[in-house]
Amino acid sequence: KNYQVVVEENRKLYNEVQELKGNIRVYCRIRPFLKGQNKTETSIEYTGENGELVVANPLKKGKDTHRFFKFNKVFGPSSTQEEVFLDTQPLIRSLLDGYNVCILAYGQTGSGKTYTMSGPSINSEEHWGVNYRALNDLFHLTQSSQNTVMYEVGVQMVEIYNEQVRDLLSDDVPDASMHCVRSTEDVLELMNIGLMNRAVGATALNEKSSRSHSVLSVHVRGVDVKTDSELRGSLHLVDLAGSERIDRSEVTGDRLKEAQHINKSLSALGDVIFALAHKNPHVPYRNSKLTQVLQNSLGGQAKTLMFVQINPDEDSYAETVSTLKFAERVSGVELGAARSYK
Ligand code: ADP
Repeated sequence: KNYQVVVEENRKLYNEVQELKGNIRVYCRIRPFLKGQNKTETSIEYTGENGELVVANPLKKGKDTHRFFKFNKVFGPSSTQEEVFLDTQPLIRSLLDGYNVCILAYGQTGSGKTYTMSGPSINSEEHWGVNYRALNDLFHLTQSSQNTVMYEVGVQMVEIYNEQVRDLLSDDVPDASMHCVRSTEDVLELMNIGLMNRAVGATALNEKSSRSHSVLSVHVRGVDVKTDSELRGSLHLVDLAGSERIDRSEVTGDRLKEAQHINKSLSALGDVIFALAHKNPHVPYRNSKLTQVLQNSLGGQAKTLMFVQINPDEDSYAETVSTLKFAERVSGVELGAARSYK
């Protein structure tokens, strides 16, 4: 079959399943090549128009020479933090209308999850990720509406490591501590503390990588000055642990345990989003700490956005395809996996 025919068929299928997806959106972001990495003839090729992504197999062997994927949006390697935020902002703003919102970054270690969610450095405003931009935006909005609605904003930050939830902002409370914030500066200060407390360990792929999920939660309560009526919304911003498959023969002990916990929680997350996208009556929230923590912002009226992060280099091809398949499964748009064209 030629390429155009497959693309057309996929498009049709995609439009049919769009309705099913409801409140779940999936954006793909391709990291640029980093210093020292060069594009080679066999690097991952992609075209990113209209949320369509075609990935070429660098080995060019077998029947799957190309795979077709479809997202709500694809951000190429040259996309800026600002562009990414512009497409995220409306979702974040719906928090002030009383919605629960969950934004997650999924991908292998080094694929840009932290870059998308937080940015490379807290000090570089131009490169701020979704986290800081979201809070900055929310404060502007809440301050400009002070005459009509009074808002209170509370922030929590936890990490989930080996199925244990740990508060990153305080040591001495049993549950995640809630911190009242009044400005972006308050938030920056708290997030700095949280980042320092986050458990990080070295892996072969990326020294800074973290094998824990980090969850920043923003809770907003708005009271209408005239009617005294109240609205509550919450936003969870999640930087997931690396999704790479660990070779069981290469790790033992703590590393193996970590890998098993990560696997378990990411598949539990996949199962929950899959159940929601397919409107299954039973949604298996109880299967992991991660899905329990996120429960009120996944499903029901809640709005979910997943950033699927991928690397451009050919060495990452296998992980890239596995990441894209995960995305495809959770979004209810399973069409490219078995399809190929020559
Ligand atoms: P992850 O959180 O998935 O492990 P990181 O966010 O730490 O990955 O990204 C790995 C490296 O790539 C970091 O040095 C980061 O600054 C860089 N990087 C990731 N995405 C981008 C991007 N869109 N533009 C520029 N550099 C990026």
